[in-house]
Amino acid sequence: MNSKTGTLYIVATPIGNLEDITYRAVETLKRVGLVLAEDTRHASILFKRFDIKTPLLPYHEHNERKQLSKVLRRLSDGQEIAMISDAGTPLISDPGYPLVSEARNSGLNVVPIPGPSAVIAALSAGGLPTDRFCFEGFIPAKRGPRREFLARCARCTSTAVMYESCHRIQQSLSQVLDTIGPDRNIVVARELTKKFEEFYSGNAEQVLEQVMAKKENQKGEFVIMISGVRTSDPDDLQARKMLEVLMEEMPLKSAARLVAKLVEGNRNQIYQLGLQMQAEQS
Ligand code: SAM
Repeated sequence: MNSKTGTLYIVATPIGNLEDITYRAVETLKRVGLVLAEDTRHASILFKRFDIKTPLLPYHEHNERKQLSKVLRRLSDGQEIAMISDAGTPLISDPGYPLVSEARNSGLNVVPIPGPSAVIAALSAGGLPTDRFCFEGFIPAKRGPRREFLARCARCTSTAVMYESCHRIQQSLSQVLDTIGPDRNIVVARELTKKFEEFYSGNAEQVLEQVMAKKENQKGEFVIMISGVRTSDPDDLQARKMLEVLMEEMPLKSAARLVAKLVEGNRNQIYQLGLQMQAEQS
């Protein structure tokens, strides 16, 4: 790290529950000379709660280009600057990419201060495979691009994760049902880390039903997760038969590993199938 130049800290902040901020985030936000904030009024709530007195500078998608050179100059002069967004990790469906990219290209130090992000929180507790996932960002608002976007997700072989707001959750889930059909597992995480946090899971039809069941279920912020398309369906007879024989001889974990090799399937999905078979037997 070049100690003569300044440092840009990319600081993750809570996605709802203020207690989720890290010690390092608070310490960094107190120590730097300036904090770039997507919405300074929003940042003030966080600053007040943790007694942070550092000056704030608005930095959002509408003034990003304008502020860029100013911030780069300050960093080149050796200043320490932090960037936060309204919630979660900056740059993850949030402003900051041009600045980080330019700062790195200019040889400036860029340091992550990791912490909350809705995509990771949703995946960690959603119950869908997490060995591979594909983060797709926001579902497009317009119908045509949204259809194309969901068609791409339908072909995804890993868990597809996307963000959606309360305004379009119903339309998006209806379109997920139209595009993806009722065969895939879907999990919708609502209001993560907040008072009314909820997870809805099942196939697209069942999840839509749960979200439509009450007006409250359509309020707040959402992460939609769709299980990946199965490259070789572990539910097929062949995998089942192999598991049946092997599970008598060895632990499920080893049996799943062998079957995955033999049918060139996903080890985790075959392991899940084994668990399901064990439950069926008991
Ligand atoms: N940078 C943030 C992150 O790291 O997650 C994402 C910011 S993006 C502008 C806002 C979107 O993230 C929301 O519309 C929603 O889809 C998702 N999101 C943020 N907070 C959430 C929460 N508490 N529960 C569920 N989804 C959330």
